[in-house]
Amino acid sequence: MADLPENVHSDTLLAQALGWLEPMSGGVVPAIEMATTYKRDPAYERDEGIWYSRPENPTYWQVEALLARLEGAEAALVTGSGTASMAMVVEALKSGDHVLLPEVGYGGLHFMATDMANHWGIVFENYPAGDLNAMAAMVRPGQTKILWVEAPSNPELIVPDIAACAGIAHDAGARLVVDATFMPPPLFQPLKLGADIVLHSAMKYLNGHSDVVAGTIATAKADDWWRHVEHMRFRSGAVLGPVEAWLLLRGMRTLHLRMEKAQANAVALATFLADHPKVSRVLYPGLPDHPSHDLARRQMAGFGAMLAFEVKGDVHDAAGVWRGTKLIKNATSLGGPETLIEHRHVSDGYTSPVPPCMLRLSVGQEDAADLIDDLDRALGRAGSNRAQGRATKLAQGLCWESRPHAGVVLPIHLASTYATDPSAYGKPYAYGRDQNPTGEQPEAVIADLEGAAEAKLFGSGMAAAAAVFQALSAGDHVVIQDSLYWGVRGMVKALPTAWGITTDWFATGDIDALRAAIRPGETRVVWLESPANPNMTVTDIAAACALAREAGAVSVVDNTFATPLLTRPLDLGADIVMHSATKYLNGHSDIIAGVLACREATPFWQRIAAIRHQAGAILGPFEAWLLMRGLRTLDLRVARACESAMVIARHLEGHAGVDAVLYPGLESFPGHEIAARQMSGGFGGMLSIRVAGGEAAARRIWSRFKVFKIATSLGGVESLVEHRATVEGPDSPVPVDLLRLSVGIEHVGDLIADLDRALAGI
Ligand SMILES: *Cc1c(COP(=O)(O)O)cnc(C)c1O
Repeated sequence: MADLPENVHSDTLLAQALGWLEPMSGGVVPAIEMATTYKRDPAYERDEGIWYSRPENPTYWQVEALLARLEGAEAALVTGSGTASMAMVVEALKSGDHVLLPEVGYGGLHFMATDMANHWGIVFENYPAGDLNAMAAMVRPGQTKILWVEAPSNPELIVPDIAACAGIAHDAGARLVVDATFMPPPLFQPLKLGADIVLHSAMKYLNGHSDVVAGTIATAKADDWWRHVEHMRFRSGAVLGPVEAWLLLRGMRTLHLRMEKAQANAVALATFLADHPKVSRVLYPGLPDHPSHDLARRQMAGFGAMLAFEVKGDVHDAAGVWRGTKLIKNATSLGGPETLIEHRHVSDGYTSPVPPCMLRLSVGQEDAADLIDDLDRALGRAGSNRAQGRATKLAQGLCWESRPHAGVVLPIHLASTYATDPSAYGKPYAYGRDQNPTGEQPEAVIADLEGAAEAKLFGSGMAAAAAVFQALSAGDHVVIQDSLYWGVRGMVKALPTAWGITTDWFATGDIDALRAAIRPGETRVVWLESPANPNMTVTDIAAACALAREAGAVSVVDNTFATPLLTRPLDLGADIVMHSATKYLNGHSDIIAGVLACREATPFWQRIAAIRHQAGAILGPFEAWLLMRGLRTLDLRVARACESAMVIARHLEGHAGVDAVLYPGLESFPGHEIAARQMSGGFGGMLSIRVAGGEAAARRIWSRFKVFKIATSLGGVESLVEHRATVEGPDSPVPVDLLRLSVGIEHVGDLIADLDRALAGI
């Protein structure tokens, strides 16, 4: 299964989901196992092997193994919801057993205790959350089976001393169950502090995209009692669907980046609120005056991204603030990319013990300044007129909500045809090849990122590129750089010639050569890619596009490597931008997709749009939906990839095993100055190296990587390494000693160790 080396950091475990490869194909992403039943081996005992999908589904295994590793658990399970995980613990009890629950906590736990389990004769009692003395006084040795704590607790964010709680429970012969939904592993690992069971509503931080209802449960010991609990998933049937398990794993790959950003935002908001004249109290474990500050610091590697605050005045004042936020969504739940605010006193019902003026925030991944502005306005001040930040637009997908239900995530529209009003036939929807609501949000987000008038999704990057050439006519002339993505090179060599289009290739990055190749009045398209694949040559996009414009040609820039976060070609004068959305935009190595975006919807653009309609290279709705999900973390992923690539480039510069490092971020790189001018926020996650020792050494090194996956493609959460000359074949112009690296979001120390290991002793 190609596991990772033993000692890698948790960032690497998460980004690569333990590094498992799909066993049949070597896929870097697991397959979704949809089968409900499996052909049985008659030699097996009744419970051996996989035989039905309620007891077991292979799509669960990687999530469960990753979770167990992060929690330090002997075993872990995914379940149909956080509540299902809680119920599995309760269902394993017997009549007469005694359970201690926190008085203030997740409302659903109390509903479960009172509505359901009371009927089975299980005795529930509430202790004041965080009060260890009360807890110790209330346990009934021999009868108490479960001591239940929430840490941090909902909504006051109390963090009890887990080791002390475990001592109280164990002395009485009970088990300590910790609901750690508010603080995911590896930041908080209650099992390592003595807890027996840890639960998560996995729909919160672990999944992190507000689109899957799921639960997890993990155990310190896989003993007989655990087997009993475990059996409840099969018996009472609260299983997770395979698609949801797959999405959960996909979500977990960015957990470390999401938590880092959300925590930083939470600190900013807590600090802002603590100073606000309309706020009487802020509850955030990261603030030194929080009752659990010291315990949180000792037991957790961070303070999380949940916070609560009390508004001065009465319940109506608090409700007014709750209603008053615009960017911060007034919605239940937590742990997603978008910031949410809740008035728990109201949402829990009026008997709720939560203080009436308390509001709870789940802090997301927007720009902190936008969140502060929104809260400030809701608290009655004027706010600023700042333009919404890019992080905010990505986290919230431009604030789009579903209609008519106001979901924070848009649904997947699978209809191939739409019932329509004959008097306005086809508006806005007629047929799924032309219009599908699922693609509109990612198109709008990409158009916004690129500063484009419009964007159109295609079934692949190549389909997007092809549409540009399909929009030409016989006799048209194309000028294209000679070093670029080989698929585009291959297509341009074959197709346009067959269609009577002539082509001239110019030396990549050489503006004089470009000028010489352009034929004013005849050249229709100038095709650019910067940094270029795989030698990273930088082109002065503004200068090149100005030449195209003077000659009446359309300039097209393949912006796949740079992403719109680092370079905005339309601002530099380009007419059209193209992406393989397979790469950074989606970022999870699980869809093939492409996109074109235009500065103006010119007649040439209209022709491209018509070609998508006529030639039909559209993106499916599932893929468009996944792309939108991927876009929500684009800024976090690209920022980490850029930082790590820079560290790696500097490390390899001057390395004995490396003759040259090709990375625009290095001052020594020929295109560095232009790159520094037209790229901002980083130089990308792609770099190439020319290894010492020629082709044989390059091939040898290539085969030695363990953290970098030996695979084609780029821009995913996992790092990849390629010997491009092998991949491209005999007529490739790529030097045979070149290895191309796509740097992912793992821990950079693990990537460097892997490179050093591969390059050692060549
Ligand atoms: C991958 C890639 C393409 C092709 O995109 P697909 O999604 O594979 O069709 C085009 N240009 C660049 C720079 C690429 O990396």
